[in-house]
Parts: sequence; structure tokens; C-alpha cells
Amino acid sequence: MSSTKHTTLVDLQQFNSYLSVFENSPIGICLASTDAVIVKANQRFCEMLEYKEEEVVGTAIGSFDHPDDLRKSKAFVKRLLNGSNHWLTTEKRYRKKSGAYLWAKTSATIIQDQVGRPALIVGMIEDISAMKEIQSALKDREERLSEAIVNTGVRITLLDLDGYVLYANQTLPEVPKEEFIGSCAYEWWPEALRGEIKGAMKIVRDTKKSLNFESQYPTPSGKLHYFFHDLSPRTHGGQVTGYTVICNDITERKKLEEDLERSHSLMELGLTAAKMGIWEWDVRENLLNWDHTACEIFGYEPDHLSGTVDEFISNLHDDDRERLLEENADAFKSKEAFNGEYRIVRQDKLEVRWVSFKSRYFRNTMNQVVRLTGVIWDSTEEKEKELIKQKAIELERQNKELQEFSYLASHDLQEPLRTVSNYVKLLSDKFEDVKDPHTPVFLDFISKAVNRMQHQIKDLLEYARLGHEKEPHSVDCNLLIQQVIENLEELIRTKQATIEIAPLPLISCYPQEITVLFQNLIHNGLKFQAPGTPATVRIEAKDEKNRWVFSVQDNGIGIEQEHFAKIFTIFQRLHPRNRFEGTGIGLAQCQKIVALHGGEIWLESKLDKGTTFFFSIPK
Ligand code: ADP
Repeated sequence: MSSTKHTTLVDLQQFNSYLSVFENSPIGICLASTDAVIVKANQRFCEMLEYKEEEVVGTAIGSFDHPDDLRKSKAFVKRLLNGSNHWLTTEKRYRKKSGAYLWAKTSATIIQDQVGRPALIVGMIEDISAMKEIQSALKDREERLSEAIVNTGVRITLLDLDGYVLYANQTLPEVPKEEFIGSCAYEWWPEALRGEIKGAMKIVRDTKKSLNFESQYPTPSGKLHYFFHDLSPRTHGGQVTGYTVICNDITERKKLEEDLERSHSLMELGLTAAKMGIWEWDVRENLLNWDHTACEIFGYEPDHLSGTVDEFISNLHDDDRERLLEENADAFKSKEAFNGEYRIVRQDKLEVRWVSFKSRYFRNTMNQVVRLTGVIWDSTEEKEKELIKQKAIELERQNKELQEFSYLASHDLQEPLRTVSNYVKLLSDKFEDVKDPHTPVFLDFISKAVNRMQHQIKDLLEYARLGHEKEPHSVDCNLLIQQVIENLEELIRTKQATIEIAPLPLISCYPQEITVLFQNLIHNGLKFQAPGTPATVRIEAKDEKNRWVFSVQDNGIGIEQEHFAKIFTIFQRLHPRNRFEGTGIGLAQCQKIVALHGGEIWLESKLDKGTTFFFSIPK
């Protein structure tokens, strides 16, 4: 019923003549007084509310209202009575006798009396419950749908043919939605891309087929975003009327891809720098894939590989083949990783090399190994270093044993020697009066030999003791050398020798040992004095980056070059005892002390000119 329909003033008597129409109307009709109390209701009205007419007559219209519609209802009546003589329409709920509600479209108007005052309200109600149910279901669906569209990570934009935004479930990053809707989509693309995008739209328009592309452009704040676009035509009656743009912000994915690529190339760089090869054993196919570096390690040209496991096994050294097979078989059963170190025979040079590898088994859901992937590198040098290290440890152990032995031996030998010496003395006293001229000479020989042996054993004992000091100390060599000079004072005086000492550094060392070192070298410098030449010994030190190089120079008899190496060996002497006294242990001690400090000892010498001993001490 139209709300614009004009109501004419009718006589109630005349209205009654239409009573049968009123009664049989398929629309529920009621008449109410101006204070909204029902005075008459037709059959349909009563049916709809499940009442008899006498039950509704005298009842306020508002008493059937749903509590939520009360305000709306009151306002509706107020508007009616406020002079309007037009039909007004509203939708509201009525409570039926059963307590259930029905939705009804309510149209009402006012019938005025002869002087134009509101006399009667005419109300008509149509049951729209079914329509309301459909409407509500539709609304629900629409809400769910639009919620899904809005919440999807994908931006859906509808454009008209000129590229203006008609709808967007999401706006662009950093762009308010109001600004985006109604704008021309091209404006948001960088200038350089616009031509390309317009071209794509033209293709979609002409072919009526969708296409997709990736692009990258900055947000208003300049942040670069990557997008994936799917552009499809919207058609109506076979004509393209606009476009649907589905756009996905793939910045995160792109970043991940870039990060992945970066770490991949970094890994490749690292592997290349470390000369590590990559290989993979496809267990199901029983095929082995080797990369370029792995081929190089085995001495293969990459094209000459058959890629079989047997080929790899054939390259293993005969002594290591069984071990690898056993270790793999063991790890294959349950372990995650398989790491090993084996010898191979290189294909090209038939050279034996050590290779090390670390690998990981990949299993399927049934716990069967499907793949073994790993890295491999030539570890020959590492292995050699390790072997040298092991040898050094072994050598050190043997050395220690030897030291202990020589210490004990020399210590224990002193005792019987002392006894021999004492008895020789007793014998000498006893045979003092004996007339035989040979006896005292023989006894003298024995006594001297015993004496010499005692010295040798004492020196040997000292040699064995070297390096027993635990911690190195910081030592001022100027002070240390003063001590040495004091120890040699008598010899210096006898020889009328000159000792020149240049400024010496502070070093970290075993002080007792360094004292012995200087003492032996200076003592030799004085002892091996050239005949007729006053002895001069000069001590210096030179700063050489990572080490100090000390020198002890004399102007003595010199040494022939062919003896340079020999003189550092224990008991090795170049001169008969009657010319120069000594045990032949001094330089061996020096060498041991220098080695103990991680340094080196060497010499320069010219016969009859003099000798300079050098030794280095690391800083
Ligand atoms: P020793 O001095 O007790 O004989 P060393 O081990 O100190 O034993 O020296 C070994 C040998 O090296 C000496 O016997 C000597 O022949 C030679 N030698 C050592 N130092 C000098 C030197 N400064 N000048 C010449 N010869 C030397």
C-alpha cells in the first residue's frame, strides 16, 4: 500500500457498508481509538495473532509489541497522530497468543472527524515472517562472506573500465580506505609501471581472459612492497564492464626468498672457500650425485662420473673400504648422521689422500632411509698435522721417560763413583812409599778418570733437570747477566778478558735455565781463547718483531763449518782434553734450553777469527 495515498474523510456509517470487504480481506486490519486501543479487528488480524476478536477489542495495540520494538512503536503512533493523514509504514514484531512473534509490515493512517481532528487509527498488518527469515539468513551469509573477504590476506579490488576503484575489501598499505575508494588505481602505481599495467588491462579487455603479474612499488612512506596481481574481466551481457584485481602482498615471501637465496650463496661461498664438496646418495635409485668440488677431491672430471655408489667405493683405499661399509651399515639402521674419515686413491694422480665427511640421513614416514646428504673435504693436511701432533706427544712422553731415566742413572752412578774415588785416595796414601814408579802414575790416571766421570755425571744430571721449572717469569736480562758475570768472575780475571754487554731486554722465560744458557756460551767464549789474544766476549740483543735474537760473540779459535751441527750433540767435543777441559754437554744444554722456550740456536764462525752464537726467544 502506497504511503502517498491520500485518505479521505469518510462517514463511519459508510465505512460499515464495506464491512464484508473488511472482514474478508487477506490483510489483517484493525481500527483503534486515538489512544491506540483496538475497537475493531478483522478475521485475518485475529487469525494472525491467534486471538478472537472479543479478546483483542479493548486492548492497547502496544500490548502486542516485542519489547525491543516498544520505542519504535510509540514513535510510530506519535507520528501518525501528529497531524499526518498519510499512510505510514513500519516493520515490527507482534506477540501471538501462543507467545511466539510474527514479523509484520504495518501500514497505518488516521481517519479525521468532520472538523479535521484525528478520530480513528486504521492499521493494516501483513505477515512478513518468512521474508524476514530469508532476509536474516541472507544478511548472515553476506556478513560471513564479507568478513571472509575482508580478513583474507588477499586484496580484492573492483575497477571500472577507466581504472577507478569501485570496491576494495582492503586498502593499500598506508592509504586510508576512503582515499583509495573512488581513486584511479593507476595513480598508486609508479609512473614507470603505469604503461605496462594499462597494457595488461587492455589485453584483459580485448581477450576477456585474466592474466597475472608481479610488480614492486613503494608505499607513500617509501617502503618497497612486492605484489602479485591477478587481473580478470568483469562482464555484463557479454561486454567487459570493468576489472577484478586480486592482489596479494608478497613482500614477506619475497624477503624470505631473497634471504634464502642470500644464505644459499653464502653457504656456497663458504663451501667453495673451505674447498668442501656436496654429495647426495639417492638410496632408492642407488645413485650418487657429486658436485664440482667433490669431483675435484676425487680427481674426476665431472663428465666422467657414472654416479654410482660402486664408483665411489672403488675409490676408497683397500684398507679403509671395509671399515666405511661397516660404519655406514651400522649408522644406516638408526642413526641420524654419518660422519667419517677415510683414505681414498685419487683418480688422476693415483695419490692416497684423506677425506672427511659429515652427512645426514633423511628417512620417510616408515623410517626408511631415502637420502643421505653430506659435505666432503680433503683432510690430508689436517690428518698429517694430527699425526705429527700425536708423534710429538709420543716423543714428549719418551723424552720424559728418558729424562727420568738419565736423572736416576746419573744420580745413582754418583754414589759408586764417590766410593771408587775415596778408595783411590786411600790406595794413593797407602802406596806413597812404594818404590814401583808406575803405581802412583796409574793411581793418578784412575783418580783423574773418576774425577772426569763425576763431572760428566754432574753435568748430565743438570741436563736432565733442565725444564723442571713450571712457570715462566718476566726477567730483566741486564740483571740476569750480572749474576752470570759474577759466577764467572774468577775465570774472567784469570783470562784478563773483556766482557761487553749491550742493553738487554725484559723477556718472559725460565730464569734458571736462561742463566745456564748465558753462562755456558760466555764460558765457552772465554775458554776457547785464541793463543796470544786477550779474550773479548760481547753480548747483544736484537728486536725482531715476534722474537728477541741474542748473540754471544768471542774472538777465540773459531769452529770449522763442517762441525756446526755436531757440537750441539751430547759429549761431542772438537779438541783433546789436554788442550781444553770440558764434558761436551754445555752446548747440548743450550740447545735444550732454547728449544724449551720455543726458540732456535745457531752460530757463525771463522777459524782463528772467533765465533758468534745466536739464539732466539719468542716474545
Ligand atoms: P765443552 O765446552 O764442555 O767441551 P760444549 O758442548 O760446550 O762442551 O762444546 C762442544 C764443543 O764445541 C767444544 O768442545 C768445542 O770444541 C766447541 N766449541 C764450543 N764453543 C766454542 C767456542 N766459543 N769457540 C770454539 N769452539 C767452541
